[in-house]
This record gives sequence, structure tokens and C-alpha cells, in this order.
Amino acid sequence: MDKTRWNIETKAVQCGFTPKNGEPRVTPIVQSTTYKYDTCKEIADLFDLKVPGHMYSRISNPTVEVLENKMAALEGGVGALALSSGQSASTVCILNICEAGDHFVALSTLYGGTFNLFKHTLKKMGIDMTFVDPGAPVDEIKKAFKPNTKLLFGESLSNPGTQVLDFDKFSAIAKAMGVPFIVDNTFPTPCLCRPLEHGADIVIHSTTKYTDGHATSVGGIIVDGGSFDWNNGKFPGLTEPDESYHGLSYTETFGNQAYIVKARVQWIRDLGCYMSPQNAFLTNKGLETLHLRMERHSSNALALAEFLESHPGVDWVKYPLLKSDANHDLCKKYMKAGSGVLTFGPKGGRDAAERLMNSLQLAEIVVHVADVRTGVLHPASMTHRQLSDADQIKAGVLPELIRITVGIEHIDDIIADFSQALDSMG
Ligand SMILES: *Cc1c(COP(=O)(O)O)cnc(C)c1O
Repeated sequence: MDKTRWNIETKAVQCGFTPKNGEPRVTPIVQSTTYKYDTCKEIADLFDLKVPGHMYSRISNPTVEVLENKMAALEGGVGALALSSGQSASTVCILNICEAGDHFVALSTLYGGTFNLFKHTLKKMGIDMTFVDPGAPVDEIKKAFKPNTKLLFGESLSNPGTQVLDFDKFSAIAKAMGVPFIVDNTFPTPCLCRPLEHGADIVIHSTTKYTDGHATSVGGIIVDGGSFDWNNGKFPGLTEPDESYHGLSYTETFGNQAYIVKARVQWIRDLGCYMSPQNAFLTNKGLETLHLRMERHSSNALALAEFLESHPGVDWVKYPLLKSDANHDLCKKYMKAGSGVLTFGPKGGRDAAERLMNSLQLAEIVVHVADVRTGVLHPASMTHRQLSDADQIKAGVLPELIRITVGIEHIDDIIADFSQALDSMG
């Protein structure tokens, strides 16, 4: 049976772990830092990367490997690497390509944490970058690329602005510029959108969000599409001998898995931000129902968006599948449904937004998004607080904007809650 042809629902349940005769059916939590071998040579071969296997849980672990294999299957990649957070996935996916003196280009509509990492922290490490407006003309965007530009980065569905990535436009730009296209697919998840099928080369996730889906575990993952040709002269770190790995070349030794092997044996070896087995177990449990949850998150969010749009106390609503939304056509083209995140602005500005949030009873105020419970957040005073007013606007954050993460409760109860809160505003 060709498992690569399974539907996404089947992969979410079945892929990643195939127990042998008599072994546990459910992925066990291998809570061990270390692994026993009979001879020195076997461990030497592991260190030489000549054979697959585990030697130390900073670099790989059987439980985490199950999650990695499943996520690679869901996204359609050749390999994956799980990390301790989405932030470490964003950091390592860049460091694996860029070093001091290099430059990259990113869309300006990004999660606040990624924005800070790119604009400030990586710059302090000597990695320069330029933000581009996703709506700018192609010629203008191409001007942001320099001879030392090494990659293009964007979010498939931006947090919190829910802007849908124009994959055809940006994958063509990355191709023309000879750089890989990295896409953060946290919000749609592979159930609603698979970036590798639309020209992305590498996909990352904060698994803290829908992948786990129950708000139990912070984590991240990088999936390598295996499609990018690193041999165009721009990426010596992947093609030339690595002195820290006794002179092996990743592309020569590992072919189309060069990127993901390098991220593990060089960056995770040195930075040590690997996912823990316990978190991988919980995250993998979440993945088993991802397809069901994403359907309900999406249908609830669309119904709530339509309700809010019709309410006189609401100034504006943004949800990609609303007919009125500027992203409607892109969403129809690239996504199976709209996901569970929407934003809206109540009439009365920032002050009204805060009062409205305080009167909600089912929807809770949480610094989180994308789990089973409905929650609300005010990005201007929370996640995007560290950004200047101008940078907030660039990231799509207006002062009155409330982000709703729509859960999987009954839609009537969710709507009733927003209805009573809006009515109480008078
Ligand atoms: C939350 C988030 C991140 C960061 O992930 P953490 O797991 O919180 O470190 C990155 N990208 C997006 C789109 C996110 O929503």
C-alpha cells in the first residue's frame, strides 16, 4: 500500500509510527536521554552519520521522531526536525542558511515574535533583513534582494492579520532570485494548506497552536520539502565541507535531505533547543484529531464572522472566507477552509475593545491562539506591545483590533456570548 497517497485524515491518524509485533500500539514516551550499544564502532558510526539511530536526546529521540515523521508526511516533505518552540524553529530555519554578513527578505505581515527576532535579534548577530509589503508590485519586491540575500520568508495565513499568502507571486519571486522560500504554516496547518504544493521549499510551524491544539505544549517544527537545489553557488554552508563535521558536505552526503540533516546535526547539536519526548507525545496526540478540529474551528469561525459582520456594534470584521474580505479569492485558491482565527474592530476604538473583552463570559482573555477553547486577545496591548505604532500598523494591528481564536464549542453558545457582550456596550 502506498502510504504517501493516503488522504490527510488517514495520515494524521496513522503515519509516523508502525509498531512491530507485540509492541505498544500507542507511541511510547521514551523518557531517556541516552541509548545503549554493544560496541564502540556502532556509536562511532552514529557519530559519523553513517547509520541512522539515536545516541543522545539533544539530537534525536524515538518519540520525537514519530512526530517528525508524521509532520513530514502531512506536509509532503522529505524530513522534519522538532524544536522546543516555534521561535526556535524560526531561528534555526534562518541560521541554517544565513550567517553574519548575509541578508534575507520577509513579508511584513508576521507574528510579533518573529518580527522582533528578524528586525532586532538576528540583526545583532550580523544577519540583515528587509521587510516587504505583500501587496507591493513584483518589481518593487525584487529590488529588496541583494547579492547576499539567502531566502524569502512569509506566513501562509498571517497572525494576527489573517492575510493569505499569494503563493504563486512569492514562489515565482524566490525562484527568480535563486533563494529558498520558507513558509510559516502555523495557522492553516497541513489540513487546510500545504505550502510545498504551492512552491514553498521549507515549511515551519509553531506546534504550540493547532498542531497540539489543546494548549498543553510549546513546540516548533521545520519540514524540508527537499526540492531546493542548493548547488547554485549561494549556499557554501550546505555544499562545502563542514569543518565542525570533519569535512563532510551536506549536499554530497545527504542529497535532498541536506538542509534538514544540517539543521539537526549542526544547529540542534550546538544550540540544544530540541523538543522533549513528553511534549512530542502530547503534540502527536493532538495531531491525531487535527483534521476534525480544523473543520470545526473553520465552520465556527465563519459563522461567528458572519454574525459579527451583521451586528450594528461592529465596525469591521476580517476573516479570509467572508465574501467581503480582500483575501477571499486567495483563500479559495490555496486553502481548504478559513481556519479558526478572525479579527474585528468594535465601534468606539481601543477603549471599546477592552471593555468588550472584559464582558465576555465564555471566551476568555488568553495570550494564546488556536486551541479547543474560544479566546480573545488584544494584540496592540499584548503580543505586539513591543512594536512601535508604525510597525504595528505594518503588521496589520489596529488599536481597536480584537483577535478571536474560535474554539470547537457549539457555535450557538459562542455567538450568544459575543451577542451579550456587544449588547452590554449599549
Ligand atoms: C505563536 C507563533 C510563533 C511562535 O511560536 P512559539 O511556539 O510561541 O514559540 C511563530 N509563528 C506563528 C505564526 C505563531 O502564531
